[in-house]
Amino acid sequence: MTTTSTLTREQVLKVARQRQAAAVKAEIDKLHLAVEWAALNPGDVVDQTRSWEERDLEVAGDGAPTVAEFSIAEFALAVGMNTDAGRVFIGDAVELAHRLPRTWARVGAGEVAVWKARKVAQQTKALPVDAAAFVDRALAPVLHTCTFAQIERTVEAARAEFDPQAAEQRRQADAEHRHLTFYWRQVTSTGQVPVAGIMDLADAVALDDNLKAKAATLDPALPIDVRRSIAAGMLGGAGEREVVIYTHVQADSRMVEVENTRTVVLTFPRCVFPGCSRRSRSADNDHITEFPLGRTNTRNLAPLCRHHHRVKTFTAWTYHRTGPRTFTWTSPTGCSYHVRVDRHIR
Ligand SMILES: [Zn+2]
Repeated sequence: MTTTSTLTREQVLKVARQRQAAAVKAEIDKLHLAVEWAALNPGDVVDQTRSWEERDLEVAGDGAPTVAEFSIAEFALAVGMNTDAGRVFIGDAVELAHRLPRTWARVGAGEVAVWKARKVAQQTKALPVDAAAFVDRALAPVLHTCTFAQIERTVEAARAEFDPQAAEQRRQADAEHRHLTFYWRQVTSTGQVPVAGIMDLADAVALDDNLKAKAATLDPALPIDVRRSIAAGMLGGAGEREVVIYTHVQADSRMVEVENTRTVVLTFPRCVFPGCSRRSRSADNDHITEFPLGRTNTRNLAPLCRHHHRVKTFTAWTYHRTGPRTFTWTSPTGCSYHVRVDRHIR
């Protein structure tokens, strides 16, 4: 193999080291900026009395400050993430800065890798304050050489010492593997929660039969997994839950609106907020220019997932359509983001 490089080996390595140092510094700076952003957008001033409006998000563990929900989207875009990844990133940074001060100091000094510190933060978020402090004291001095297994063992030891009830529950769950767990700390911004469990075989067969029968009565256009999830929700009394439907009723155009909705989904397969990839089939149809100033027609409708619909409705985010499948968004601080929708990517 021939090379056209005019650099010597020493020069290549020198530049590579410089770039690596700059990349490490940029990662550390982003964590600090996430903490700054959280401080500038505190959650405790949010009015949560209106159900559709902004929430006070617990992004980190007990005692750490909360963050105003709608502020996440803009910071996430600024650091090249989607909103969900941005929420985890800000949460990790806040956890480190407020509950793991020794680890935070070592990260700031460039002595511990950001990804490793974030691994610790993600494990301590569910711990009480004193248990998180224990993990910080134990791990911070040695974290640069720790394996994931060592981090997990230290977190378990802290849980056993400071939250024996939770540790005992986990011990029993380990000894008797049956469980049904709702991961409340992983609720997505669209209101979904992961559930996992291990059941007695006979119980599982009976439940599976029950879900199959219920799923068979639901809309066959929906994928079977979605129908099974809905059927499981029906077991939990979902028939009684509150459903809010927003409509703009015009006496002469109700049928037209139904057809328009289908066209919007076909034209825009995904939420049109910058960086979002949630499917438009389960999204809201947003009036780009608010009703009644903007009409309910395909020119003025675009799909937004529930989270970004709320962000757009209750904050200063604005957008307009610049072409058949292009939009320009403007953030509350005045940054512009251009979105081009490829209808073949579904
Ligand atoms: Zn979205």
